[in-house]
Amino acid sequence: MARVIIIGAGGVGTVVAKKVAMNNDIFTDIMLASRTKSKCDKIAKEIEETLGVKIQTASVDADKVPELVALFKEFKPELVINVALPYQDLTIMDACLETGVNYLDTANYEPIDEAKYQYSWQWAYQERFKKAGLTAILGCGFDPGVTSVFTAYAAKHHFDEIHYLDIVDCNGGDHHKAFATNFNPEINIREITQKGKYYENGEWIETEPQEIHRPLHYPGIGVRESYLLYHEELESLVKNFPTLKRARFWMTFGEEYLTHLRVIQNIGMDSIEPINYNGMQIVPIQFLKAVLPNPQDLGNDYTGETSIGCRIRGIKNGEEHTYYIWNNCSHQAAFRETGTQGVSYTTGVPATVGAMMFFKGLWRKPGVFNVEEFDPDPFLEELGKQGLPWHEHLDVDIEFEK
Ligand code: NDP
Repeated sequence: MARVIIIGAGGVGTVVAKKVAMNNDIFTDIMLASRTKSKCDKIAKEIEETLGVKIQTASVDADKVPELVALFKEFKPELVINVALPYQDLTIMDACLETGVNYLDTANYEPIDEAKYQYSWQWAYQERFKKAGLTAILGCGFDPGVTSVFTAYAAKHHFDEIHYLDIVDCNGGDHHKAFATNFNPEINIREITQKGKYYENGEWIETEPQEIHRPLHYPGIGVRESYLLYHEELESLVKNFPTLKRARFWMTFGEEYLTHLRVIQNIGMDSIEPINYNGMQIVPIQFLKAVLPNPQDLGNDYTGETSIGCRIRGIKNGEEHTYYIWNNCSHQAAFRETGTQGVSYTTGVPATVGAMMFFKGLWRKPGVFNVEEFDPDPFLEELGKQGLPWHEHLDVDIEFEK
């Protein structure tokens, strides 16, 4: 008996619900709960029609601990997969502690009134989860998630010390819209408009947004302009791999995307400060989310591939080596399988695989952990089987200077 509750019925929640249902030999009892129950019901109907698997649905406001506690007491899950928004991480963790439920998410906590994400808030739960004998698995999407597991795999199998890490994230796809984000627009725009930051020789170095960029080559895609961003897995990776001398994160953006983003910023539509409009309090970025294309609906017309991986330099037996490990995911293939585009797919599949690791007892220990703190081998073995095969090259030209 493996009872799992998924919270959040957006693009990622759709993939998780479908992949969990496809693996109902492991996940025997499944509930999908979100703020808007009709979205859960629609996904549950598709799952029943296409896979013949029945899943339960419920409405829950995950900002409210008592609502979560009541739902967890009724359904009695062993694990919650949190694919709602980062704002709900702490309330869901609180409810887990109150009801004895284990926890997994794909994005670290971010306060709604401050565009700032860091692990300290969730790491502060370490002692409480440990004492309760519960496991919390943090950041189990693709990045963070697979990129962190890729790094752990490299450290385990190919290096004595890893020194330089560059996480490279390319969306080489085309959704044929003038402007759209690939996951929740509010979270996406908050992330990209922040200052950049990278780690070098024990210090964090801040940059202006999109200040540092360079063309990088991605397998199967070609050369794309790639921008240095701060990304949350850097924080846990430099802590868990203290031999790192430098850690950076790069993401590709097209000119069209950046031009739209500049306009959005210049006219104040990315603001998280509420404004008064006709007697109503409106948060500009939340209004913008409401008028932008829903990332969940982009799949139909999405062509091309994503390519995300880790480029690492370090030493083994006293000699320097380079290493590149990556996955390419086709938007069309993701759509055919789950009805969603590649970015939701590359997040939802690792979350499902992380939950499988938990139920198989392979990723289960009391406390709060980032994914790189677990054994990477069984996760990566399963990841390929679940639709995200990966590739590795040792001693290749990885394009980065020392
Ligand atoms: P969506 O906006 O498509 O979906 C979010 C879902 O959460 C919606 O169903 C929404 O409900 C629900 N939700 C929001 N607030 C609440 C609440 N208070 N109570 C209950 N449900 C709530 O987002 P995505 O599916 O694109 O992203 C989901 C998560 O995945 C995000 O946290 C995102 O940061 C993360 N992510 C992680 C990645 C990784 O690689 N690690 C990559 C991409 C995303 P409603 O429909 O009612 O608004």
